[in-house]
Amino acid sequence: MSSLDGIKMPGRLPLLLTHERVLLPGSTVRFNVDTPRNMHLIKHRLLKGTSLKSTFIGVIPNTRDPANDADDLPTLHKIGTAGIAVQVVGSNWPKPHYTLLITGLCRFSVSSLLTERPFVLAEVEQLDKLEQYTTPAQGVSAEDGELQELSQKFYQTALQLLGMLDMSVPVVAKFRRLLDSLPKETLPDVVASMIRTSNKEKLQVLDAVILEERFRKTLPMLTRQIEGLKLLQQTRRMMPDPEKKVLPVHKGGVFPGRHFNLNEEDDEDDSDDTASLERKAHAANMPDAALRVCLKELKRLKKMPQSMPEYALTRNYLDLMVELPWSKSTKDCLDIHAARTLLDNDHYAMDKLKRRVLEYLAVRQLKASLKGPILCFVGPPGVGKTSVGRSIAKTLGREFHRIALGGVCDQSDIRGHRRTYVGSMPGRIINGLKTVGVNNPVFLLDEVDKLGKSLQGDPAAALLEVLDPEQNHSFTDHYLNVAFDLSQVLFIATANTTATIPPALLDRMEVLQVPGYTQEEKVEISLRHLIPNQMEQHGLSPKQLHIPPDTTKDIINRYTREAGVRSLERKIGAICRAVAVKIAEVQTDSKTKEVTGEGHTQQGEKAAPPAMPIVIDHGALKDILGAPPFDMEVSERLTLPGVALGLAWTPLGGEIMFVEASQTEGEGQLTLTGQLGDVMKESAHLSISWLRANAKRYRLTNMVGGPDPLEGTDIHLHFPAGAVTKDGPSAGVTIVTCLASLFSGRLVRSDVAMTGEITLRGLVLPVGGIKDKVLAAHRAGVKRVIVPKRNEKDLEELPANVRDNLDFVAAANLDQVLNAAFDGGFPGTGRMHEHPQLSSKL
Ligand code: ADP
Repeated sequence: MSSLDGIKMPGRLPLLLTHERVLLPGSTVRFNVDTPRNMHLIKHRLLKGTSLKSTFIGVIPNTRDPANDADDLPTLHKIGTAGIAVQVVGSNWPKPHYTLLITGLCRFSVSSLLTERPFVLAEVEQLDKLEQYTTPAQGVSAEDGELQELSQKFYQTALQLLGMLDMSVPVVAKFRRLLDSLPKETLPDVVASMIRTSNKEKLQVLDAVILEERFRKTLPMLTRQIEGLKLLQQTRRMMPDPEKKVLPVHKGGVFPGRHFNLNEEDDEDDSDDTASLERKAHAANMPDAALRVCLKELKRLKKMPQSMPEYALTRNYLDLMVELPWSKSTKDCLDIHAARTLLDNDHYAMDKLKRRVLEYLAVRQLKASLKGPILCFVGPPGVGKTSVGRSIAKTLGREFHRIALGGVCDQSDIRGHRRTYVGSMPGRIINGLKTVGVNNPVFLLDEVDKLGKSLQGDPAAALLEVLDPEQNHSFTDHYLNVAFDLSQVLFIATANTTATIPPALLDRMEVLQVPGYTQEEKVEISLRHLIPNQMEQHGLSPKQLHIPPDTTKDIINRYTREAGVRSLERKIGAICRAVAVKIAEVQTDSKTKEVTGEGHTQQGEKAAPPAMPIVIDHGALKDILGAPPFDMEVSERLTLPGVALGLAWTPLGGEIMFVEASQTEGEGQLTLTGQLGDVMKESAHLSISWLRANAKRYRLTNMVGGPDPLEGTDIHLHFPAGAVTKDGPSAGVTIVTCLASLFSGRLVRSDVAMTGEITLRGLVLPVGGIKDKVLAAHRAGVKRVIVPKRNEKDLEELPANVRDNLDFVAAANLDQVLNAAFDGGFPGTGRMHEHPQLSSKL
């Protein structure tokens, strides 16, 4: 028994039965372990206990596929290699198995088998010395002159082989190191496991216990490799491409078998491919740094066998590198007059936005630079934010690409995954550039307000780097790993609200509000854009379909309730589809349907002349779209005391909001329902306190006629549309009005809507989103809108026709609100002398 740094090699060894690979002393081999006996061995000997001794394992080849070793023991080879387990990794996928890394140390022969289950344990006899791998290089220790000669020859031949190889390849460098540092007698084992040899040949080397014989066995293998290489070099020399003279070296064996075939079809394809990649890399006109990386990767690629997983990775990477528009761009062709016409033609209304966009473009043209804030269009869905972005690209003659950021919560989405990950890819910015194929597109960053955050890093931070003109000329995607200049890209962002845009990002942007449309604007947009576009998309001509303005109004009012025109567009699409079906039926079927001159469809009666357009009237609308979902008039809801109409702001635009209250006998409890936030609940309490404090003045009574509205009474306040969480202080005036109506038994005017925050002293404070709220009230057919006095200035932004159609009451205190909300005013509100501070404000 010998020692290894004081460790004894045991006389009993657990045996790992192997079938596919042969371990030779001096080499390290990875085994896939999945048979019952071998798995037991690992569990019992390697995963239990920590003593080093227990990591000694005998690796013994067997004659049969070890998968069948469950019952009787297969025949074992007489000689094996004892080694140390370096690493064990377990996995349950696709089936339970271990991967075991073993370094071979010395040969042994099996003297007797001790156990066969759960794993094989054997009494063994060591055949080689152990210390030869641990002591430094020295001359050949053999006394025998013949052996010395043999080993010298072997060494020289190995050197000759080395001389033919590319030293930059790691495995070749390792080969050189081993050749210099290891004692000569270990070389046959080491070299046999490094050069390409079959398992059968390796077994022969294993069996050659006598050193001399081992040299004799391995020397021909070595010379065979050299001859093969020479042959390959000759063939290559005949080829014109100098690149092909570098000999490929593959991982896992210095010489892969296919280089000994003269039939090298794959290889030719391969080098054609790489040559074309190289040509493309030079043609892509990329910066020097990128080109260097590209060529380096290309060099690596050439040395890889195609079967290697890394080959595909590197190949994809190189494909992306050569395809990226490093210096391809479109020429800007901005003509402000043409831009104005184009924006006007594509979009109705939104004058303020169009004006600002034109200014922005003009400044950029004069300065010939894109540095400056990023435009961010903020508004409800379907108001044309994306569409304006597209028009900007069109006016500049640039490519357009939309990057949807909604729900993105991983910074790798923006900046890519490092190439070390399986399935790694570039981020959306680099991908977008590849898609458009030029380096100066218009990128629309859609929904920046819906960026998420997660453990994978903050995408907003990555986006900051993209948008910052000081940094984005050298934006580095993790996948690409070289800088790409984004400074020519024109970024435009869109959002529904600024509230959820990360502040640092908001700071870089110039916010342009895009409010919702009025009914009249929507009718115009439908007539000029939506209907013609949808008809074109459905292959219909004006000769076949006519949607009169009245019908459009009907769709807007009774079938949609939105700030933008997206559902309106969808409804028009639905009409087009229905009409297309009808027309197809007419064409295939001789039975047609007549349409009267005024457009009244009398379905299924007489044949219609195909030349007449199908006119969509109210009846046809109901047939196609079904019963109108928003038919309930506001006035129908306000028929009981204890209901008031408020106005709310949401990222989807303004909305009308009913507040309902009821009272029952009880102990003064307040119940609130309808998904409310804390601020809203506080408003409710504030309102009740205000009304209790002023009950006498307003002549309010409770159910039993007492002066305190809460005495003996429970109150229930409800905010319908309970699925949506509502919060914010602006419902204050509505709650007060609703409760005042409940306690006084008077009806709130059916055509009035209101918004405003209240204080405990009865003042009305300004709130946000006035414009959207008023538009919503207008959409709902309200006639009078009560707004806080200090919001009066916001009314100027409203379209003239909305202003003219509505009667605004600017209220500074709750008395004024109540006076305006009830027909004929509210009792008690006139006696303002009781509130000197307030009357002075009036
Ligand atoms: P957003 O990006 O604001 O959600 P889109 O740009 O997708 O909205 O607009 C939805 C649809 O409405 C598009 O077909 C667009 O052309 C149309 N649209 C919106 N506003 C207008 C407008 N002012 N004039 C013409 N079409 C409009």
